[in-house]
Amino acid sequence: MNAEILAVGTELLLGDIVNTNAQYIARRLADIGVNVYYQSVVGDNESRLYKSFELALERADIVITTGGLGPTNDDLTKETATAIAGKPLVLDQKSLEWIESYFSKLGRKMTENNRKQAYFPEGSVIFHNEYGTAPGCAIEVGKKKIILLPGPPREMKPMFENSVIPYLTQFQDGVLVSKVLRICGLGESQVVDMLKDIIDAQTNPTIAPYAKTGEVTLRITSKAKTRDEASKKIFPVEEKIRNILGNHIYGEGEDTTLESVVAEMLIRHNKTIAVAESCTGGLLAARLVNYPGISSVFMEGAVTYSNASKIRQLSVKEETLSKYGAVSKETAEEMAKGICQSAGTDIGISTTGIAGPGGGSAEKPVGLVYSGVCIDGEVFSKKFSFTGDRQNIRERTVISVLDWVRR
Ligand code: ATP
Ligand code: MG
Repeated sequence: MNAEILAVGTELLLGDIVNTNAQYIARRLADIGVNVYYQSVVGDNESRLYKSFELALERADIVITTGGLGPTNDDLTKETATAIAGKPLVLDQKSLEWIESYFSKLGRKMTENNRKQAYFPEGSVIFHNEYGTAPGCAIEVGKKKIILLPGPPREMKPMFENSVIPYLTQFQDGVLVSKVLRICGLGESQVVDMLKDIIDAQTNPTIAPYAKTGEVTLRITSKAKTRDEASKKIFPVEEKIRNILGNHIYGEGEDTTLESVVAEMLIRHNKTIAVAESCTGGLLAARLVNYPGISSVFMEGAVTYSNASKIRQLSVKEETLSKYGAVSKETAEEMAKGICQSAGTDIGISTTGIAGPGGGSAEKPVGLVYSGVCIDGEVFSKKFSFTGDRQNIRERTVISVLDWVRR
């Protein structure tokens, strides 16, 4: 089986964005033994796109596109593929319901244009989009196949892993089994560097890392005649990886999150918790509340942004604030202790930092964050230094604090 990767988008031709999708897909296809003989790029132009499809279908068994699945008029990939396949567009009810629920969750009205994303050429296999509105699909064109994927990498990659790989491997001999490890406290390139020897030596199973804010996901995929045999191949490689990454691996499986690990730990030890947040402004509480069932341990969160509020709600001493400042180890510790006492919980966590873009100094630069933890009366604190924009710094604070607490 061989494939051509066809990236669609005028931005790619103009050099505004780099074609990282092709790189990702090519690497993953190699992992599962699908040969890529051609990669091409075409702009958002219907007739040129049509010609690219014709050419690609002539020289490849499978044509995989990314981009141009959005709701706007310059998103033409699906329409053009439908024309090539010579099939009518039919409504997929499940996709429509997903798109509708996506918009209602955002509190926005779905437009007629978004409806168009729920239509697919008759007989398509549809790939759910966990992170956006545009589902992907596989269309049969005679003996060949066209696979359409969304452009944004954060939508494309999970779809590729969860839907496209299983779809493609059904045409191959044997079965694929994969296992996901969740990693925190290391960047993607650090993980790749630490595992370089294992990754380089490995063809079956393969190891594919991908990153999202503050976290790395590692997928180990093995192939064998039976599921049992494939699982057995994963085990020794997983053990080697665990030996190297150690405690940086916080969990396994698609659904595990940092907050679920922390929540389950609290529930297991029967410890109640409250949080006092300054720079994260409620993000930490929101993250904890993501976990269904947190109510048995999470009591309250206070957003104590001003000094006055830190004094009034958390009994932080005026003297501490004037001597060390709001962004300091001392304040973080008093905040953690204060929320523990006022909420009457076993554990209190605090955050205080400089999220930027302004407000930093040489001594206390943007990205400096302190977190305090009070456990059964004992207080600990930790200093973090982040880079990035305001949102990034705030998100990284939450992730790093949860990661610290779970350890
Ligand atoms: P949307 O619903 O966001 O419009 P789409 O499927 O129509 O998605 P495009 O409009 O083509 O996709 O691209 C959306 C964004 O996805 C681009 O602005 C770019 O940031 C990213 N993107 C698209 N193609 C690629 C690619 N080949 N490599 C990396 N990023 C890409
Ligand atoms: Mg688009």
